[in-house]
Amino acid sequence: MDLSPACPLGVGGGIWNLSSQTGDDARPGSAEVRELLESPNFGATPQAAGDLERGIVDGRLVAALAVLTEEHRVCVDTFKKGHHFLPGVPDGPRIPNGYGKAGGLPNTHYFGRAADIRWVDGKPLEGNATDADVLDVGRMLAGIPSKKRPDQIIGPPKWSKALGYGREEGWVLASDQLRLHNDHIHIGYMGEQGTQDIR
Ligand SMILES: [Zn+2]
Repeated sequence: MDLSPACPLGVGGGIWNLSSQTGDDARPGSAEVRELLESPNFGATPQAAGDLERGIVDGRLVAALAVLTEEHRVCVDTFKKGHHFLPGVPDGPRIPNGYGKAGGLPNTHYFGRAADIRWVDGKPLEGNATDADVLDVGRMLAGIPSKKRPDQIIGPPKWSKALGYGREEGWVLASDQLRLHNDHIHIGYMGEQGTQDIR
């Protein structure tokens, strides 16, 4: 078994020490969250692990990450806590104006419905956009059934181009957004729970 941590040294571990060892079963979605946190293929920064422990991360996101960690080591930098669009500006329910053309749209991080992946199999996204493992993570995302798949997938320009997916698969290809995602893959759910079933 490969016990290499999913996050670089000093960032976070694959096996996170839960800060609260009591009352685990009372937390919403705790079984899935615990399983993810205990997977050696999953790593999280302390702020991201804390969001998971507090149960504020959307269950669909937890499930999508569980799929990716079946075959790859994935390190999540941020869910909600500590996310900033602009340095020093705290996040709110809306994307601030000035963050590309997306300014004013709902901020999926704020609602616990987005994750930023910065390392795959120990490799930083920055400079490894077309690495085979990093591309495979994209293909695994596309392989998630559409109702469960993130509908807001944004990654480095070269990664997005090499994969060739479009809006139907959930990819965001606006060039201003790609430029802002040179060093991470953002996976988010714009729709409320269940809205994709109403058609
Ligand atoms: Zn993000």
